[in-house]
Amino acid sequence: MSMKSSDNAPVDVSWIHRAETIEGKRVYIVEDHHRALLGWAMERRATATPMVLLSLDHHTDHRRAFGRDAGDDEEKRRTWIQALDFKSDESIRDALFHLHNDEHICAAIDSGVLSTAYSIVFSQAGDTPRSIEMEAHQAASAISFTRSGGVVLPPIHTGKRRNPPTRPFHDHPSSNGTYAIGSQCYVGCAKDSHSACARRLYDEALESPFLDRQIGVLKEMALATDLAAPLSDQGFILDIDLDYFHTQQSIAPVDATTFHQLIRSARAISIAEEPRFVENLALDASLRSDWLLEKMLNQISVAMK
Ligand SMILES: [Zn+2]
Repeated sequence: MSMKSSDNAPVDVSWIHRAETIEGKRVYIVEDHHRALLGWAMERRATATPMVLLSLDHHTDHRRAFGRDAGDDEEKRRTWIQALDFKSDESIRDALFHLHNDEHICAAIDSGVLSTAYSIVFSQAGDTPRSIEMEAHQAASAISFTRSGGVVLPPIHTGKRRNPPTRPFHDHPSSNGTYAIGSQCYVGCAKDSHSACARRLYDEALESPFLDRQIGVLKEMALATDLAAPLSDQGFILDIDLDYFHTQQSIAPVDATTFHQLIRSARAISIAEEPRFVENLALDASLRSDWLLEKMLNQISVAMK
């Protein structure tokens, strides 16, 4: 006999997320990032069309849905995707058993929860997909950027040295709706080598000039894909992985104008605690996820008042 109830008893979601309302803003707090899928699905039940995601995260988290658990079994992967129904808590709960913590964005796109996902990240220096201009430049000068220990190393030139192209760029459309916006360095850095820049870059994580620059890139990408001003309507989810923060200063912006505007205009906010990633990536050794969460909830409260 099946343990599955047929009396439509509500599914216990208390282990999946903690839903709070802070000054009228809905906030979903999860320990593992992929569990944010439930809160996004709940929001999607009240929108006519799939939503846009803006994620602040160290990593892109753009891996294909169920890719790890399904392995080479593409049919199994498709079956799990087809079983995903954003209207059903039970369906989301079951999906979470096979989803890993960097597969939730593609799972949300595949199941019609999201249309497009933009991730502002530190794990890469450039944009994904690459712009047409940068692709041509890198091909022509055989140039490559690599990161080591969180910093961008000087570019490696194996071809003829050329001046890099300047923005605005035209980006290739994403094949799966995901866009990652990286950054070479902090706003205004003119050095060739950024090996000593990591702390200043990370300190700027929520500063208005930094976010304005990154969102400017996002808008270039959005225009290239015929999405008009995705952050101007009420349909986007602001998603924050606390491993985006590497220093104590990073969550205490001097100029929080842009971040607070994002908080106010977001339909809802999801926050992933990811305590082990926070500690592993921290520049300030004492940085802890629970401390960051408290600061983040306070930022939301201040923005909404
Ligand atoms: Zn630099």
